Amino acid sequence: MNGAKASGPIPPEFAGAPELTVAGRPFGAWIAQAGGTPLYLYDFGMIAARLARLRAAMPEIVDIHYAIKANPLPALLAAVAPLVGGFDVASGGELEKALAAMPADRISFAGPGKRDGELEAAIRAGATVNLESEGEARRALAIGDRTGIRPRLAVRVNPDFELRGSGMKMGGRASPFGIDAARVPALVRQIVAAGADWRGFHIFAGSQALDSGAITETQAATVTLAARLAGEAGAVPPLVNLGGGFGIPYFAGDLPVNVEGVGMALGQRLAALPPELAGSRFAIELGRWIVGEAGVYLVRVVDRKESAGEVFLVTDGGLHHHLAATGNFGMVVRRNYPVAVAGRMADAAEEVVTVVGPLCTPLDRLADRVALPRAEAGDVIAIFASGAYGPSASPSAFLGHGPAMELLAGAINS
Ligand SMILES: *Cc1c(COP(=O)(O)O)cnc(C)c1O
Repeated sequence: MNGAKASGPIPPEFAGAPELTVAGRPFGAWIAQAGGTPLYLYDFGMIAARLARLRAAMPEIVDIHYAIKANPLPALLAAVAPLVGGFDVASGGELEKALAAMPADRISFAGPGKRDGELEAAIRAGATVNLESEGEARRALAIGDRTGIRPRLAVRVNPDFELRGSGMKMGGRASPFGIDAARVPALVRQIVAAGADWRGFHIFAGSQALDSGAITETQAATVTLAARLAGEAGAVPPLVNLGGGFGIPYFAGDLPVNVEGVGMALGQRLAALPPELAGSRFAIELGRWIVGEAGVYLVRVVDRKESAGEVFLVTDGGLHHHLAATGNFGMVVRRNYPVAVAGRMADAAEEVVTVVGPLCTPLDRLADRVALPRAEAGDVIAIFASGAYGPSASPSAFLGHGPAMELLAGAINS
């Protein structure tokens, strides 16, 4: 439509129906159950289907971990826990949420700047601490001595390469994350000599990559690096966490990751393991790919207004709940997430509109000049691909509108 900007692809599970249906029920029924809008709805069936597909695609020797920072809703953690090999957490608060849903020996705790209280909570619980520095290693070992508990410690490596084409690069340069690869073997020897339970390596090179070839290249380089470091340390790592980085389509032209192709290549890479890794298991840790496409953010149009010939739909939700959809969470250029009028999914576009929230800032744009069927006050707008980095990555206190509601649809008890 004339003057319209593109928006991203609606996940196929939601596309095509005359009105938006989630886990077999029309969106209006979910809004009634929640008590109104704004509402985040997560379709558990879609999450389970993605995990089943991923499990089938990955070699048996690779465990699938869920990085809970993508979506730490307690009901979601409880439903996902039986379907994955572990949870990865990045704060004491996330550790508590994870422990409510998952045995401690399947939880690992990464992240720079862990405070002594957080380290002690993890060590007492029996979770694995992914060490981010030599200083953190000293503090963790001291806590082990003081409490008489043998700490489970892995070493996070700052790799000497990065995930090509990833939206968020976390390797190949000076970094607050992990320990520079060259210094890792010495630290491993120290940890082992101190009598700690050394769990292996954690190597995370980037996030939101859609290029399957780049993911495969990074995984192969990660295996090679782990083998080299293990050889230099003189110890076989029980687990090599290869990181994650699988992206999802958010924007026009984005294509999904070919997980079957990635799994096949990884299987070939791991089929003939070097002696340094004989007996190691592997893991990939994903957040966004597991939950991102399963979530939809529903907001209601409060006001429809015109200015200088443009139509604005002012809704009851915005940047304070969904920073990422407004383009303010680590994006260089603002682009439109997939968007629809929830009650008119199959109707042709009739006009170009900008969907905004109620915040007094021009940053609060959920969709910028998109082509949609006509919507009036009272209609519901759906923002798709909203299952990851939504409420937990948004400034919900900003301007005092309060948090969004969240519902897990399609799991037992929902
Ligand atoms: C954020 C993060 C993840 C998850 O990233 P996604 O892009 O959501 O898959 C995994 N591992 C680590 C170490 C992280 O910091």
